[in-house]
Amino acid sequence: MTCFLFDKVIFGPVQSRRLGVSLGINLLPTGFKHCSFNCIYCECGWTKNNEIKNISFPPATIVKQYLEKKLQELKASDSLPDSISFAGNGEPTLHPDFSEIIDLTIELRNKYTPQSKVAVLSNASMIYLPEIVNALKKVDMNILKLDAGTEETFRDINKAASDISLKDIVKNLKQFTSNLIIQTLFVRGEFNGKMIDNTSEKEVATWLEILKEIKPERLMIYPIARATPVKGLEKIPLEELELIAEKVKKTGIKVEVYY
Ligand code: SF4
Repeated sequence: MTCFLFDKVIFGPVQSRRLGVSLGINLLPTGFKHCSFNCIYCECGWTKNNEIKNISFPPATIVKQYLEKKLQELKASDSLPDSISFAGNGEPTLHPDFSEIIDLTIELRNKYTPQSKVAVLSNASMIYLPEIVNALKKVDMNILKLDAGTEETFRDINKAASDISLKDIVKNLKQFTSNLIIQTLFVRGEFNGKMIDNTSEKEVATWLEILKEIKPERLMIYPIARATPVKGLEKIPLEELELIAEKVKKTGIKVEVYY
């Protein structure tokens, strides 16, 4: 198995574990991944930000044109999606016109497929910017990543750019008093001679304390599903994820396990 990259701005619809039949929007370049994180499990492979100059994002006008054309086709064939999701080759909120693109997507959704949910899958690294927060508040499913309870595990798993800390992300997540879904991928394995594990009792306990502070509307937990850049990462068994979900439920937060 190899990691893969999306070769289009609009892709699918694809069957998604969490979003049903989903039409994808990739706001990142098509030839490589661009992200503020470098997760050890990323399906797009390693981030190579430092090696790549002149990142070119698809302009908002092109996103609008391609999305409208695709929605017209899907409407004509009576196969409208359950959701329109921002995912793709990296972190969607890095697009310089992210807010404008959210507005035009909601407009097109309302016009062609009002029952479809607009979803953003993000690593939350850009929510220190008010315009990104305001854009995310407009979508139906604002799904933000929180894979760790401690800075060390955050560094080990997400390998964020050096100016990003778990503490700041948690502080910024608290801005969402509603419309916040947290996504957590559980994983363990060895990398560079170090055991990495966000399923340990201590790690889960600190992660739960953070969740109680953030108070998300709900939580999505899941294991790896495809090839990862670090070889030998373990797909956490369903029973183990269900035990973690039980602990979450005791805090009063809604949780779903996707397997
Ligand atoms: S945040 Fe998402 S896109 Fe970025 S490295 Fe992690 S899994 Fe990949």
